[in-house]
Amino acid sequence: MSSDREQLEVDVLFVGAGPASLSTALHLARLIKDHNQAVESREREGDILTPVLLVVEKGKEIGAHTLSGAVVDPRGFDALLKGLESRPPYEAKVRNDALYYLTETKAFRAPFTPPPLQNHGYYVASLGQLVKWLATLCEEHEVDVYPGFPAKEILFDGDSVIGVRMTDSGVGRDGEPKVNYEPGMDVKAKVTVLGEGPKGTLFGQADCKFGLSSESQPQIYAVGVKELWRVDRDLEPGVVYHSLGFPLGLNELGGGFAYTMQDGLIDLGLVVGLDYKDPRTDCHLLLQCFKQHPFIRNLIAGGELVSYGAKAIPEGGIYAMPRLFADGLLVVGDSGGFLNSQRLKGIHLAVESGMLAAETLFEALVKGDSSAQTLSAYEARFKSSLARRELWKVRNFRQSFQRGFWSGMFHSALQMLSGGRGLIDPMPITPGHTLMRRTSSLAISTLPEVDFDGTTTFDKLSSLYYSDTSHEEDQPSHLLIRDPQICIDKCSEEFGNPCQNFCPASVYEITRDGEQPRFQVNSSNCIHCKTCEIMDPYQIILWTPPEGGGGPDWKKM
Ligand code: SF4
Repeated sequence: MSSDREQLEVDVLFVGAGPASLSTALHLARLIKDHNQAVESREREGDILTPVLLVVEKGKEIGAHTLSGAVVDPRGFDALLKGLESRPPYEAKVRNDALYYLTETKAFRAPFTPPPLQNHGYYVASLGQLVKWLATLCEEHEVDVYPGFPAKEILFDGDSVIGVRMTDSGVGRDGEPKVNYEPGMDVKAKVTVLGEGPKGTLFGQADCKFGLSSESQPQIYAVGVKELWRVDRDLEPGVVYHSLGFPLGLNELGGGFAYTMQDGLIDLGLVVGLDYKDPRTDCHLLLQCFKQHPFIRNLIAGGELVSYGAKAIPEGGIYAMPRLFADGLLVVGDSGGFLNSQRLKGIHLAVESGMLAAETLFEALVKGDSSAQTLSAYEARFKSSLARRELWKVRNFRQSFQRGFWSGMFHSALQMLSGGRGLIDPMPITPGHTLMRRTSSLAISTLPEVDFDGTTTFDKLSSLYYSDTSHEEDQPSHLLIRDPQICIDKCSEEFGNPCQNFCPASVYEITRDGEQPRFQVNSSNCIHCKTCEIMDPYQIILWTPPEGGGGPDWKKM
């Protein structure tokens, strides 16, 4: 194929247009503007800075690939927007919140909401709308924002990151160029900021090169499956419900949520820890069970499904955070593990990580030095930040729940009393996929039956329709299976091909070709949640970005 690639040079490149990247770009642009005004008015010595800042995003629109609950702690945006008039387009202020324990048919309200789940003063929001607004603010501050540009590869020069290569477009399923072939552009940058979300492709490459995770605990994930509903009755916006129990068992960490928004919209979903043991676990199916519970069924009665999605959530906390810098590289937001799993919140931490990164980038631009030494100031800033103080207090929270619900309750109570320390500090954690049991050791499944009625409950393919997912069909699969024969020869026998269950979009299928089983990858169904890379028991799946703009469209979420 032609190597005649377009080249673009920028000063700072942000990969991913989530809240972390966009906050970094906005804060940096404002620091530069303040600096230039101070230099012009001779309040400060120095040169006028005119760097080119560029955000690239794989979704066809800003917000199309962004998914979260979301109840937002406004701390991050309040700090980011100081001095600006623009306010985030929150849906509603939280007026009421409650925690329920669900059995199969009953809902018991907790007498009080535990402090980590108290949301008074916070806001219910659509993260898709928030990032759209944030991208517009960035553009108003002279940051270029390019949606539909997936980055597939980090460019290195020796031990330095010098930019990224975008995916090629117009390549056929057979790997051959089509008439519309265009090689992906190379974007060279003094610093590349990775804000790709959890399990980022470029982060994986940087990790291999620099060993960013070599000294941290393994990251542990959950998957959130979410639906947006519209009901045709008056709803008070800003009511937040969290639930424990049904449809999850005591050995699975997770719970349900439902938030009311404006115009009769309800966010509802289920978060399931990706260290479950039963390979038959199917988070999409569990979400359908959740909606059969009378408490949820009543909430969405007479309503219609608007949108469906899923996303991995990095829950390991501070002990699982990688090194956040290298020569020419910074890592922000979910990519760096900025998430408080006890509070189920990461947006404010993503924004705060972005602001710390922006201050470091500003210094690097002034000094004209993007070495690891200069960029290490980001971690130094993090060490004395509010974000770090918050994460330090819950440093063993997720780890303690890997040993079951009651062990988790016991240890987390002790941790709360001892500022996060608990009985064992650091408490070890095991990568989730290694805990999956072989089918031969399983008891009969106790999962309740789901009758997909197409009104309240939907089978996977019908749900997928509501994610508005589309990919160019004639392109190589973006899901690379290192050895598909393992799927047929080993995995069917040992784990019963759990990819058919854990993928929330029916991407993986075992079909029959006469007597022969055949492993089929329906990559155009993929909603980019990354669960397969995380939960595949043999770790042979590699998710890579498809051709520009492909994927779900969650801007309503
Ligand atoms: Fe998620 Fe993987 Fe399925 Fe895509 S193929 S939807 S990334 S589990």
